[in-house]
Amino acid sequence: MKKCEILCLVIPCYNEEEVLPETAKRLTEKLNGMIERKLISPESKMVFVNDGSKDQTWPIIRELHATNPLVWGINLSRNKGHQNALLAGLMTVKEYADMAISLDADLQDDIDAIDQFVEKYYEGYDVVYGVRSSRETDTFFKKFTAQGFYKLMKVLGVDIVYNHADYRLMSKRALHELENFKEVNLFLRGIVPLIGFPSSVVTYERHERFAGESKYPLKKMLNFAFDGITSFSVKPIRMVTSLGLIIFSISIIMLIVFLITHLCGNTVPGWTTIVISVWAIGGLQLLAIGIIGEYIGKIYMESKARPKYIIQDFLK
Ligand code: UDP
Ligand code: MG
Repeated sequence: MKKCEILCLVIPCYNEEEVLPETAKRLTEKLNGMIERKLISPESKMVFVNDGSKDQTWPIIRELHATNPLVWGINLSRNKGHQNALLAGLMTVKEYADMAISLDADLQDDIDAIDQFVEKYYEGYDVVYGVRSSRETDTFFKKFTAQGFYKLMKVLGVDIVYNHADYRLMSKRALHELENFKEVNLFLRGIVPLIGFPSSVVTYERHERFAGESKYPLKKMLNFAFDGITSFSVKPIRMVTSLGLIIFSISIIMLIVFLITHLCGNTVPGWTTIVISVWAIGGLQLLAIGIIGEYIGKIYMESKARPKYIIQDFLK
């Protein structure tokens, strides 16, 4: 059964003048097709968020808005990064839309998956993750680093969906809950699973960028990965604590070994004490840093003031 609800596509754009006209054209066809089939409401929109671009992106969005009733535009005061631009768009449409799908301006994510996203939504899923079926279009380096990243996150105990970037559908109520995550270091693909609610997955083929170049150079990518890890896991701190414990234990073993060699009279005087103190002090220092780190980790998590629970149903 089709319910014909309002869909908003949220598209962050940073220096995307080369792709925008084509993107708008393809998405208009897509939305119109879905409206005709009564899959979504005629009130549905595509919302372009200009993330402080330095090129003609905003004038193009203004022009699109003037000529195309499906287009809305949001202009940020300056470049705030992909994640913040995305959040700005989602939070702006959350009152208007019944569901929102975030996607990149370069249409690397297959837009034909949108139908399946919406169908999953009608089946009752609040969050639908787009998962890429293959990484054939990626360079070996990108493939290797990206997959390593997802595995590392898993080891560190962060709940993220493997091979899912930011192509996802969220229902109105999921968007409202997202608003309660107050953190400044935004890593949306880590936060959305924390919201809970029924979720599902749609797999799609990822294409190459049809024009322009990536706005995520290696440096930004590494920063993003590091942010993701440190925003969700205090395990790195715990590793320092363990390292301190290990080194301190080694120093105790050394103490015994060196005492024996000392008693056998095989060492230069003074050497034993120096070597043991180096290991013991080093180990104790790491241990102490780790313990302090534990407290800082707690303060860090508290300062995020994340919601402690989210109620899904309330029968009364
Ligand atoms: N983007 C943004 N602000 C930034 C960097 C990127 O809004 O500071 C947008 C960009 O316009 C695109 C999306 O984020 O719509 C993903 O960027 P890109 O396609 O360059 O990343 P890649 O696909 O290479 O990882
Ligand atoms: Mg891209």
